[in-house]
Amino acid sequence: MTPGQNRTLLVSQIKDGTVIDHITAGEALNVLTILGIAGTTTESLSIATNVASRKEGRKDILKISGRELRKEEVDRIALIAPHATINIIRDYEVVEKKGVTVPPVIKGVVKCPNPGCISNAKEPIESAFEVLGKELRCCYCDWMITKNIASHII
Ligand SMILES: [Zn+2]
Repeated sequence: MTPGQNRTLLVSQIKDGTVIDHITAGEALNVLTILGIAGTTTESLSIATNVASRKEGRKDILKISGRELRKEEVDRIALIAPHATINIIRDYEVVEKKGVTVPPVIKGVVKCPNPGCISNAKEPIESAFEVLGKELRCCYCDWMITKNIASHII
């Protein structure tokens, strides 16, 4: 099998659902976490990691059967996988293809590292971060997250 054939197979195998392609290599599991899918799902998942890619060298691919992800859901992953492409599949055909764009504010995805932050108090306050390029600023206490965003995912 040539790499080209293998690639087609990887992306076209599901009947209905979402294929997230061009995920930064090694980030597929973090992407699942951000999407809130990891461990709790009835969807059928398949994950391909470190797939050879002409564009990125190595990439991860995620396939989620039976679920079409909404734009707001997938935009969150732009934080850790800015080159990801989203393919919506219906009856084995790609019916929609879109990139991801980082939202101006992300809510409920990242935990504030400041233990004194009100979003870490017992009150049910959802975390909120303003996205500033590759950095995040807490909307409550102005704490900055400047690296390893994935390690702060709730
Ligand atoms: Zn905070």
